[in-house]
Amino acid sequence: MPFKIINTDITKVNTEVIVNAANRSLLGGGGVDGAIHNAAGYELLKECKNLGGCKTGEAKITKGYNLPAEYIIHTVGPVWQGGFSDEEDYLKKCYENSLNIFKSLKLKSIAFPLISAGIYGYPKDKAINIAVSVIKKFLESYDADIFLVIFDRNDFILNNPLFNDLDSYLIKNSVKIPVNNSGVCKIPGNYNINYSLYKKANTDKKFFIDIINNKEICDKNTAKAISIALELDVYNSENFLSECGFSLSDRSDIIFRYFTEKNFYDIFEINKFLFKYGEPLLGTTALKI
Ligand code: ADP
Repeated sequence: MPFKIINTDITKVNTEVIVNAANRSLLGGGGVDGAIHNAAGYELLKECKNLGGCKTGEAKITKGYNLPAEYIIHTVGPVWQGGFSDEEDYLKKCYENSLNIFKSLKLKSIAFPLISAGIYGYPKDKAINIAVSVIKKFLESYDADIFLVIFDRNDFILNNPLFNDLDSYLIKNSVKIPVNNSGVCKIPGNYNINYSLYKKANTDKKFFIDIINNKEICDKNTAKAISIALELDVYNSENFLSECGFSLSDRSDIIFRYFTEKNFYDIFEINKFLFKYGEPLLGTTALKI
């Protein structure tokens, strides 16, 4: 099921759970922690006082009080110390332990901030990679809508050599191609699309099944997500999209084509690049944010 990176204030997010990058006292602090306590209200602090703090890498749950979210999972990220003090393991544990609590309560939607990447000084590119890799692994065995909230777009640093390459590709390919976004709204019948591809398409399971049974309209974004899930190369993906009624035209399409030319089909990674360029991400969550 789907994962999206979004640019907003986590206190406004209407997932069932939001995660707080807390400190060991659990009694509030600066950054996202302060924002969550302010928005949730004094009742949150009262509950937190009874929790007895929290160790680095561990997580504890409270109610959400005045927040749109029903629950808050408080986790304590590591302070960056140059990478020599098991910071990576601790940061992974923050995401894993939060997700384990979430799963044990059979919840379906959760939003994370970029834990440790503020006051605690964790390098942002590394923090993003850890967040995405743990979430990706978790979604292989559990269906949920998971969001990574990036408060300040400038924090979204991708330290990836493909980034410069993609930049020059976009400059070279910026010629406008005639647009066909009419969309026949139907998936062509000659592709063997199995419902189990919903995870690779980063798409809500029910929505995906409705799309392939032509009970739902297939928009261009979903058609591209399905093309990635089917691992269609650049030639076949353009055919597939054209059969769906779309042509590749705008900047997000050129980014899509760049990855299909490279036979690169990891939708989580592609979405990192789309987010970086401020383009819509591929896939569809059940919860609209
Ligand atoms: P830490 O102490 O774990 O580094 P911070 O709160 O200082 O925690 O920062 C963690 C991340 O949360 C940073 O990327 C920061 O920009 C972000 N952040 C701060 N306020 C908010 C907010 N209201 N919503 C979402 N993210 C936020």
